[in-house]
Amino acid sequence: MKKLEEYVQSIPDFPEEGIIFRDVTSVLQDPDGLALAIDSMKEKLTGIDFDIIAGTESRGFIFGVPVAYALHKAFVPIRKKGKLPRETISESYDLEYGSAVIEIHRDAIKPGDRVVLIDDLIATGGTIKASIRMIEALGGSVEKIVFLMELAGLKGREQLKGYDVESVIIYE
Ligand code: 5GP
Repeated sequence: MKKLEEYVQSIPDFPEEGIIFRDVTSVLQDPDGLALAIDSMKEKLTGIDFDIIAGTESRGFIFGVPVAYALHKAFVPIRKKGKLPRETISESYDLEYGSAVIEIHRDAIKPGDRVVLIDDLIATGGTIKASIRMIEALGGSVEKIVFLMELAGLKGREQLKGYDVESVIIYE
């Protein structure tokens, strides 16, 4: 059986020169790759007590929803600015390339909710830190953070001291 790493294609100079883009679409387009990715992320949540999975647009949705469904948990989307229809709170953050604002529905997280964050990849950690700030501002606690891939060289994990963080694949 193929290992998960073998489904990930690495694309040089995308979306900008000098960046090696780890492409998850190559994982998703193979049924075995897709199943392995979802199962591997789900396994990281064994023994974790939580209520909600939150995922950031757009690849956090791809992995967050099936894991939430498999564990019968709620899913809360964190979206780019201007997409959510009800009252939101927002956070801005720097990306590996550029900057962005993300939002969450104010009523999506209630004080005391135990939240797991899922995303496809951690690079600098800016996206996930902004997501954590919003969840905590609404009174939720971040019980665990699961990534499919981690670009360890960008040291995003250093921004997540004190949190339970696991990545399925780590690129040094
Ligand atoms: P960070 O905020 O940690 O610097 O960047 C992480 C975000 O950027 C993730 O939401 C991820 O989807 C996207 N991203 C950055 N680099 C890559 C990459 O090489 N491959 C993929 N699939 N996503 C990336």
